This record gives sequence, structure tokens and C-alpha cells, in this order.
Amino acid sequence: MSFRQEPPRLGNQYEDDRALRSYLKRALPPEVLREVEPALAEMGELAGGELYRMQSEDRLNEPRLTQWDAWGERVDRIEVSPLWRAAERIAAERGLVATAYERRHGRHSRTHQLALAYLFTPSTDIYSCPLAMTDGAARALLDSGNKTLIDRVVPHLVSREPESFWTSGQWMTELTGGSDVGLSETVARRDAGGVWRLYGRKWFTSAAASQVALTLARPEGNAPGGRGLALFLVETRDGGGRLRNIRINRLKDKLGTRKVPTAELTLDGTPAELVKGTTDGVRDIAPMLNVTRLWNGVSAAALMRRGVALARDYARRRAAFGSKLSEKPLHADTLAGLQSEAEAALHLTFYAAELTGREESRELDESGARLLRLLTPLMKLTTARAAVAVASETLEAFGGAGYVEDTGLPVLLRDAQVLSIWEGTTNVLSLDALRTALKDADALASIRGEIENCAHDVNDGRLASAASAALDAASHADVWLASAAREGQTGLEAGARRFALTLGRALSLALLARQAQWSLDEEGDARAAAAARRFAAAGVDLITDSDPEDASLLMEER
Ligand SMILES: Cc1cc2nc3c(=O)[nH]c(=O)nc-3n(C[C@H](O)[C@H](O)[C@H](O)COP(=O)(O)OP(=O)(O)OC[C@H]3O[C@@H](n4cnc5c(N)ncnc54)[C@H](O)[C@@H]3O)c2cc1C
Repeated sequence: MSFRQEPPRLGNQYEDDRALRSYLKRALPPEVLREVEPALAEMGELAGGELYRMQSEDRLNEPRLTQWDAWGERVDRIEVSPLWRAAERIAAERGLVATAYERRHGRHSRTHQLALAYLFTPSTDIYSCPLAMTDGAARALLDSGNKTLIDRVVPHLVSREPESFWTSGQWMTELTGGSDVGLSETVARRDAGGVWRLYGRKWFTSAAASQVALTLARPEGNAPGGRGLALFLVETRDGGGRLRNIRINRLKDKLGTRKVPTAELTLDGTPAELVKGTTDGVRDIAPMLNVTRLWNGVSAAALMRRGVALARDYARRRAAFGSKLSEKPLHADTLAGLQSEAEAALHLTFYAAELTGREESRELDESGARLLRLLTPLMKLTTARAAVAVASETLEAFGGAGYVEDTGLPVLLRDAQVLSIWEGTTNVLSLDALRTALKDADALASIRGEIENCAHDVNDGRLASAASAALDAASHADVWLASAAREGQTGLEAGARRFALTLGRALSLALLARQAQWSLDEEGDARAAAAARRFAAAGVDLITDSDPEDASLLMEER
């Protein structure tokens, strides 16, 4: 009984990440890369070292809600875990939000910021959630043109000082729905002093310990539906630290994201400030959602990368049937599939980051902006679905250990599962993408054009089949859309997910193939090309001729 199993280990998560480093080398001008690389290497060191150690020590801690103090006073105080307190400080100091707004490197600042986020996220148990919403709130406030709020609130959201750094919540979902927010029941009423006050219940509010939140409410007398909602900013606590007419009813008992304090709230006369107009709040909060969806993609790519890093290391330490797992052809084949998914997700997400950076620097033309409008839901839903599949396979790559809590592995699967639910479910975003593609033929043509550009850049025979798989899948998506549109709404909606995933995977593959060509030429490295071939072999074209009648039949239980 002398056998001792070595656990998996992590090194510097920047230095070890061949795909990220190669991408940044291609995407950033050399002088920008030189300037940002030390910060990325430091974050990589933290993520594979100190933070990873703290994460493991923090495993059993969860946020605590104290509703009453010893003397019967309602206090509704949330304490987050030690890892999260450290994550907040590190996030402020290292500019996890600030980097995108300081714009030291113009349009490349988004890429720099999200590369930091990609390294930071897997070691901080979804602290990316409050950061995503904080970043999104800064963007939405800046876009609103509300000078008072921009001057008073945005400097806190983008601060590098832990003492003055604020995070923001995003309170949209009510009992009536998270997808169909037009059903929201929260009412906004002006009091005698002219202050807007909110009355209602918010059913899912993550980052409930935040200093501010952007939220939707219906000014009294407004029409029903999404257009009748307005966007408000709530400062959650007064100068004495008391919640402003907000009751925290309970924290959700969730499958994953257990470090995230997701609360149910009652707003009972909560003072709020109108961000823009008294209607069209759903439109006004859209810039926030674009940013949080971008973070969702980064989190998906980052969690996949973490799973693969751990599984690859473990395969070199664990032996079975006479040799290391890494030497077993089938185990290596399984891990190669995971690596290719992670690598494709990285390129799709960072392509959206690049376009966002260009938009924020006013370097994106009208057609690029429309491309980004369609790309955002495609990127979010494609990477989120892949993350769940990769996390599941990662656990299996550890055998029984992958199912055991104190290895720290099961959390990868639990946390990945939320990525396809919040910020828009796969179906809801597929329908969003479908609507955009139908309404804006140019946006769809731009996605297709980008796939063609990538394929055009590929000239190595080893990438030919990957490039043509991407082109064929995109053509099939076009053909399907035209024919389904002729046949009517039912078939269109029923096929929306297959359409969106096909476009998302086709673009991922094209971007990966372009990177692979660059890596062959500039680095003499054939690994990205291998990833592209693996990704193509796993299938990018998911469009089938399913009959929506079959779906109706299968909905019948008896
Ligand atoms: C951990 C966690 C934290 C969260 N934090 C926040 C937060 O901070 N702020 C916030 O506002 N919300 C938050 N949410 C809520 C989240 O955004 C919603 O749960 C999500 O948007 C889905 O809404 P729903 O729960 O109402 O599901 P529903 O809209 O009821 O969806 C149920 C199912 O129906 C499908 N569906 C819905 N409409 C259609 C359609 N037209 N066609 C086909 N299929 C459809 C969906 O894809 C889904 O599979 C959080 C959720 C979780 C799990």
C-alpha cells in the first residue's frame, strides 16, 4: 500500500499557455506586446501559484447573509469568502476593469484587459461575474451620456484603488422571466421631492454586495412590454452603510457559482436615478449586456483552458496499464479534442474583443458594428455550450478523482454550466442571432466575409480541409436560412440553435485556421494547425433537415 498519487500541478498560466501567447503575438503590435507582457506574466504567476493555492484553501467557504443583528435590527449584510475579498483587491490594483477604459494602448486595450481576465478568472471562482457587470455598467453609463452619473459613478467603477473601487450589479431578472424581461413588474414612482423610487422584486441578483446596480423598472403609467421599461441606477447603501429600502430575502442555493452571492431582493421605495429616458430601458442596458457577454466568452475559454491544463499535467503523472496516461493513444486523442475546443473558443472570443476595442476607439465602421452585433450572441452561445462539454470531459479525464470534491475539479463543471444560462440562454441568443441575420443581410454577409478572409489567408495544405469545412458550413447556414425563411416561422425558430451554432463554430474554425497558418509561418509551430484539424473533424456543420412536426409530436407525453 505504498502507492502515492501525485496531484496535477499548474505552472505560470501565461507562460504555459501556448495558444494565448501565440495569439497575442499575432494580434498585438510588438511594442504593445512588450509593454503588456510583464503584467500578463505576473497574472499568470498569480493564477497558477498564490491565487490557485488560496482557491483550494477557500473551497468550503461561501458567502453569508446576516439578516438581523443581535438587537433585532434588520441589517441584510453579505460577507463574501476570503478568496473573493482578495480577488476584489487584486482586480482593482491590476486594472481588471480599468485597463479597458484607460486606453493606454488604444483599441488593443480591450485585448489586454480581457487577456488579464482570462488568466485571473479560473483561479477566483467566478469573481469575473461582478467584474463583468462593473465593466458593463461603466460602458452603459458612458454610452448614456448622463454626465452626472458619468462623473460621480464611473470613476469608482474604473478605479485602481481598492478603497474607492466599486462593483455594479445588473438587476434584470424577475419572477416573471429573465429572457422575457418585458414582463417585468417593478414599478418606478416619483415621490413628492421628485426622487424616483422603485417597488418590486428582483429574482436573481448576483454581486448582491455591490455598491451600485443598473436595473429596469416601469415608470407608472408606461405601456407594458420592453419599451415601457426605463433604466435606473441604484446606489445600494446610504452613507451609514444601510441598504436603501432594499431587503435581501435570501441567497440562492445554487448548483455552482457558489462563491457568487446571488440574492432575491425586494425593492420597497428604493431611491434610483434615471440613466437616460423614461422608456426604452432594454435598449439602454444593451451596451452592458454586450460587455457581460464578452466576459462570458472569456470565462468559457478560460475555464476550458484550466481544465485542459490540469488534465494534461495529470496525464503525465498518472499511470495505468503499464504506462502514463499521456502515452495512451486514446487518452491523448480525448485531450486533443478538448484542447481544440478551448483554442477555438479563445480565438472566437478574442475576435469579439478586438472588434469591441475598435468600436470603443471609434475605429469600427458601420459594417463592422453590424458584424459585432451578430457576433456577440454567436460567440457567447458557442463558447458557453463548448465549455459545459469540455468541463464534463475534463472531469472524466481524472477518472473517479474528477468526481471528488476536494480535488477541486467538480467545481469546473458546476461553474461552466451557468455560462449557457445567464446573460441569455442558448435558445434565446440563437433567436436573437436569427432575427439579426434575417433583418440585416449585411451582418450575415460580414460574418461570411470574415470566414472567407481567414480561408484566403490559409495556404498550407495541412489546413486546406479545415478552411473548406468552415466555408462549407457557412454556405450551408446561408442556404438553410433562405429556404427556412420561405417556409415560415415554425421551421425557422426550430432550427435557430443549429443555425447559430453552425455559424459560431464555422467562424471559430476559420479564425483558428488563420492563426494556425500564422503560427506555421512565423513560429514553425504545427500545434494550432493540429487543433484546427481536430476542431474541424469534431464537426462544425450542425444543420439538419429536422421536421418541426417531429418536435411537436415528441412534446406529447402520453
Ligand atoms: C447563478 C445565476 C445568477 C444570475 N444572476 C443574475 C443577475 O445578476 N441579474 C439578472 O438579471 N439575472 C441573473 N440571472 C438570471 C438569468 O439571467 C436568467 O435565469 C436567464 O436569463 C434565463 O431566464 P429565466 O430563468 O427566466 O428562464 P426562461 O426564460 O423561463 O427560460 C426557460 C427555458 O426556455 C427557453 N426559452 C425561453 N424563451 C424561449 C423562446 N422564445 N424560444 C425557445 N426557447 C426559449 C430558454 O432557453 C430556457 O431553456 C442569474 C441566473 C443564474 C443561474
